[in-house]
Amino acid sequence: MSNHLPAALIASLEGLPGFDRAPFEQVHAAAEKITSLRFNPLKVRTAETQENILSALSASDAVQIPWSSAGYYLSQRPSFTFDPYFHAGAYYVQEASSMFLEHAVRTTVDLSRPLKVLDLCAAPGGKSTLLQSLLNEQSMLVANEVIKPRAALLADNLSKWGAANVVVSNNDPRDFSRLPGYFDLIVIDAPCSGSGLFRRDPELIPEWSPENVELCSQRQQRILADVLPALKEDGILIYSTCSFSKEEDEVILDWLADHFELENIALNVPSAWQIVPTVTDKRNCTGYRFYPNRLKGEGFFISCFRKRDMAHTAKRKETKQGVVSAKERELLSSWIQLPDGYSYLPHQDEMLILSPLVATEIAFLQQQLYIRKAGVKAGQPGKKELIPDHQLAMSPMVAAEVPVVDLELKAALQYLRKEDPGIDTPVRGWALMRYGQMPLGWAKILPNRINNYYPKELRILKDISGL
Ligand code: SAM
Repeated sequence: MSNHLPAALIASLEGLPGFDRAPFEQVHAAAEKITSLRFNPLKVRTAETQENILSALSASDAVQIPWSSAGYYLSQRPSFTFDPYFHAGAYYVQEASSMFLEHAVRTTVDLSRPLKVLDLCAAPGGKSTLLQSLLNEQSMLVANEVIKPRAALLADNLSKWGAANVVVSNNDPRDFSRLPGYFDLIVIDAPCSGSGLFRRDPELIPEWSPENVELCSQRQQRILADVLPALKEDGILIYSTCSFSKEEDEVILDWLADHFELENIALNVPSAWQIVPTVTDKRNCTGYRFYPNRLKGEGFFISCFRKRDMAHTAKRKETKQGVVSAKERELLSSWIQLPDGYSYLPHQDEMLILSPLVATEIAFLQQQLYIRKAGVKAGQPGKKELIPDHQLAMSPMVAAEVPVVDLELKAALQYLRKEDPGIDTPVRGWALMRYGQMPLGWAKILPNRINNYYPKELRILKDISGL
C-alpha cells in the first residue's frame, strides 16, 4: 500500500502551526509502526506484575510515554493474540498520542470528587478505559457508542477492563438532551476524516477528500450541539480528533466559542513533549496538534473548554429497585468480595454488581438511554448455585476463597481457544482459570472432564499448534 498523501491534503495543511512538509511526508513514507500499550491499574498493581507482562511480551526494554502514567512504547509489535494477559484485560493496546487525554483530564478536572463522565463516541474503548483508570470509585463513566455492533465491542472491552463504575449505552448524541446539566466531564473523540492515522493505516488514504473533511466538520458541529446541554455548569468539555484538517480542529473551536458559553482552557504542556499549541484566528482558543514527525505517536488534536452558562437539570422520577433476598446474598457472598458501598441489582434472571454512583443513577439512566451494560454482571443465581458470568471473572471482586487453577502458557491458550486445557488438578467444581495470577475466565471441573465457560464469541480463533 502506497503512503502517498493526497496533494490536496498537503496543500490544506501548509501554514498550520507546526506543519513542516518535508519531514511530514518523510515520516509517512518511512511508515514506521509504533506500538504502545497502557496498563490497567485495577489488575496490574505492582511493578513486578508489570515487569512480568512486559517480559512475556519480550518487551522488557519498554519506555514510558511522557504524558501517560501507565502507557509504554514497545520496541516491536508482539502477537497480542497469543498473550493471555491481553485477554485478561491487563492492558489496552492504544496509540500513544491519544493517551494525552490523561494530561488534559488531570489538569482540568478535580479527580478527587465523585464525577459523572460521558465518553460520547467511545468504541472501541481506548479513551473509555483510560478515563475509567483516572476516576475514583465514587465516580461513574457512561461510555456511549451510536453504532450497534461497535457498542457491543465497546461493552466487551469494558467488561474485560473489569470496573463496576461503568455504564455502556448505545445512543445517538441527540438522546443526551434528555439529561440536561448531568455530566461533569464530556469527552468527544469525534468521528473524523482520519488523516492522523494515515501513517499507521495507509489503506485509509484513498477515502480522504476535501468534501469528506467538510462533511466531518458539519457532523462534528451537530454532535457537539446535540450533547452540550448535557454538560453541567462549570463542567469540562474535551474535544479531540485524529485529523490534521483545520476544518475539524481550529474551525470547530471557533465555532464552539461563537455558539456556546464556553471558556477555552489552555494546558500546561512541557515543550520537550513536542506537542504543538495552536491558537485559533477568531476566538483565541488553544488546541494541541500532534505530528508523527515531531513526536512518537500518530496525528491527533485536542482542546478543552469549561461551560459557562446555566445548565438546566432533569426532573427525576423515583423508581424502585429489585430486592436481593437473604438467600441470594449468602450465595453471592461465597463468590464475591463486595467493596464498601457497592451493591447488587437483580436484572432479569441475573445479578449485577454496581458501584455506589451507578447504583443511584442506573434507573434514571435506563429511562433515558438504551443501556447495554451496567456495572459488572455477577451471574445467574440458581436454587443451589450461582452460574458465574465472565464479567465477574474479569473484575477484581472475585472472593479469595473461590478455587483457582493456574495454567501454563500453552494450557492458558488452549483454555482461551475454548478447548480442554488438559490439566491435572485436584480442584473440583467451579474454578477461576488464571495465567500468571491473572484471571482468564471460568471452568467447571468434573471428575472426567472440564467444562470450559470461556465466552464463545471471545475465543482465540488462530491456530496455536506452532507455538
Ligand atoms: N474514542 C474511541 C477510542 O478511543 O477507542 C474512538 C472513537 S472514533 C474516533 C469515533 C466514534 O464515533 C466511532 O466509534 C464511530 O462509530 C462514532 N460515530 C460515528 N458517527 C457518529 C455520530 N454521528 N455521532 C456519534 N458518534 C459517531
